[in-house]
Amino acid sequence: MRYIFISLILVFISISAESQNVKVDPKYHSPLGIPLQLSAIFGDIRPNHFHMGLDFKTNQREGIPIHAINDGYISRIRIAPTGYGKVLYINHPNGITSVYAHCSSFSKEILDYLLPIQTKAFSNNIDIKLTNNDFPIKKGQLIALSGNSGSSTGPHLHFEIRDTETEHGLNPLLHGFSISDNFSPTINAIKLYAVDEKGYQIPGKSMNIKVQKTNGGYSIAGNKVVIPKDFIPNYGLLAFAVSGFDQIGTAGSNYGLFENICVINKDTLFHSKYDRISFDDSRYVNSHQDLEEYKKNKTRFHKLFRTAHNPLQIYQFEELGTFKIKPKDSLNVQVILKDVSKNYSKINFAVITPEGSPVKSEKFYSSKTHLVPDSSYRFIGQEMEIDLEPYTFYEPIKKFGDIQNNRFGAGEITIQKSFKVKMTPLKNVDGNKQYIQVISNGKFNALITTFNENKLNAESKLFGQYVVKVDTIAPKISPLNFKETDTIIGSNILSWKVSDGQTDINNYNLLIDGEWYPLDYDLKSNRLVFNRQTSLKKTHTIEVLVSDNCGNVRAWKKKIYFN
Ligand SMILES: [Zn+2]
Repeated sequence: MRYIFISLILVFISISAESQNVKVDPKYHSPLGIPLQLSAIFGDIRPNHFHMGLDFKTNQREGIPIHAINDGYISRIRIAPTGYGKVLYINHPNGITSVYAHCSSFSKEILDYLLPIQTKAFSNNIDIKLTNNDFPIKKGQLIALSGNSGSSTGPHLHFEIRDTETEHGLNPLLHGFSISDNFSPTINAIKLYAVDEKGYQIPGKSMNIKVQKTNGGYSIAGNKVVIPKDFIPNYGLLAFAVSGFDQIGTAGSNYGLFENICVINKDTLFHSKYDRISFDDSRYVNSHQDLEEYKKNKTRFHKLFRTAHNPLQIYQFEELGTFKIKPKDSLNVQVILKDVSKNYSKINFAVITPEGSPVKSEKFYSSKTHLVPDSSYRFIGQEMEIDLEPYTFYEPIKKFGDIQNNRFGAGEITIQKSFKVKMTPLKNVDGNKQYIQVISNGKFNALITTFNENKLNAESKLFGQYVVKVDTIAPKISPLNFKETDTIIGSNILSWKVSDGQTDINNYNLLIDGEWYPLDYDLKSNRLVFNRQTSLKKTHTIEVLVSDNCGNVRAWKKKIYFN
């Protein structure tokens, strides 16, 4: 008896140690039917976006109940094979919207509501907006089951709080969700840049500075940085970046930063805070971080300055965070990293500039030699035309000349906006069966292409070789968890493998005896999945229809007897 009692205590301790992470304010219901364990926070840097919510672990499995955090109404339901997969948005009376993403399924009431809409649209993929009369929700109501749908890489709940009016993502750790965290952020390195008056980096003029952790603090060798004479042409502007992370709870659980501050001679020069991010601006993460450094060395530097046209709302000041230096300056610099629980770390050092006359230099870019961010551009080749809007580029880039043989630019330049591509279609082939392909960095990419006014039109973010291709071959469908020859099936799940050799899967539908049924498409595994209700028994005609982006349709049809 005593033995059982002790082991029960041990189990309890180990569970509570694991699930220490997130506390929910009593005004809200927990979004998950299990204790909330964090795996990612708001503001974490991801490829081409900031992480806009909290990720909660779901014991590596799907099907954990998801509950509405408060009274309100469903304002949006979306199903797509990419992005958030199956996602629900609920508007609440206090002006926030809660978002529950990567679900495996929705509640029965929601599925019943969706069925006629999907059937009418003949599409599993939907994105519908609802008003407050359509679908009221009570605090704690079961609304969905957790999953791994869309661009999720493992079962979890991606949960967001948004400002209903602006739709900006808000940091949930400042809005009713809290963590206990006694670890202060870690500072790994500092980087120094010569920049121009718009905050653009001067090529080749940057310096990485190693940071040491000493008793109770951080420092750099000699506590000073001596700027070489040719580092800042004409005694221009200087700026900093910091590399670091924050630890929450147990060791090894590293998260992104929350609040970054740079102080020079006791004046706060720069202050960023991940409290609110607009979805429209989230891609500016490519300008907020030193993306070139990350591509080269996988080291994440958060800039302590910004470019003039970076609109992210994380910046607390209008000023860019760059500063002018004079000969023989000695500046006291302090960089402070704070986490959401107000733990902080800081580093102090001096920046010493050389004596004497500055090194004279030409401007590092001009509109003659470079494509500059604030201009629009049109490139016209023999068979193609490309239009770039202003603020497509984050920094000035070297001109790459005109379009020769349908080659546009080169290399891996990350840009903010897609550009428009128009190409002349091939003769004697139906324009609707043609698409634009880009070969970029050795990879083949099929662009979603429309055919109108006798041109092929697409949007692209890729530089490389552009080619017009023809796709007249329908996608392939083959059974995955049963054999093509099986006529009797006992499983409640039917799955098929789908693929398209050229363009991607565009639409997928399931008909049973001619009637529309929901079908899931998992793009990651190229799988179509049908969850059969157990009431579906005996012989039925199963028909799967899959089309690609050039409108080629494959039909798979079979009579199956369900046990
Ligand atoms: Zn997430």
